[in-house]
Amino acid sequence: MRLLIFGRQGAGKGTQSALLAEHYGAVHISTGDVLRAAVANATPVGLEAKSYMDSGQLVPDEVMLGVVEERLAQPDIVEHGFLLDGFPRTVPQAEALLGITDVDVAVDLVVPEDVVLERISSRRVCSSCGRIYSVGMPPAEGWTCDTCGGEVVQRADDTPEAVAKRLAAYSSETEPTIRCFEDKGLLATVDGLGTPTEVQDRLVAAIDAAVAS
Ligand SMILES: [Zn+2]
Repeated sequence: MRLLIFGRQGAGKGTQSALLAEHYGAVHISTGDVLRAAVANATPVGLEAKSYMDSGQLVPDEVMLGVVEERLAQPDIVEHGFLLDGFPRTVPQAEALLGITDVDVAVDLVVPEDVVLERISSRRVCSSCGRIYSVGMPPAEGWTCDTCGGEVVQRADDTPEAVAKRLAAYSSETEPTIRCFEDKGLLATVDGLGTPTEVQDRLVAAIDAAVAS
């Protein structure tokens, strides 16, 4: 299975990606992790990406594509397939990706903008162990982590301003990318509201139907 997953930040993409990869026996590739691994392993494209990151620049499309291509060629993916999360983000990246691999289904996990904004702005995280809380589900004692006693805080990039900026980039860049897969008949659109299990069942049904058609 060769899957792509799209969704706004806060749509539950991370949770659902892990469940889907397990369900289909595919390798979950998060672009951020792949990029960090390529840099850490000092592969040729990793070193190229590092030179941009070190100077505070965004890694350009063609370098990012090289990082993804290098990962897709590894034996675990050749054998088990992939679920790619976080790539492509732009139409040129999508076209380039389709030049190096076939894609069976691209899933769009849809959660309305006001819902994700509310989810993210109410999110709090333990600064020590990373456990996630929210304003509605705080730790038992003040903002002290139940697990480790660390301080529970709001991430600097979870402020309403920072989130609004990322959501705007999603609308202007990623929405057209999703349409590009729709035009090719590869898109499955799935409602992302509900419990993780409900959403998972919907995703599997939509993916299986898309693959069978
Ligand atoms: Zn903690």
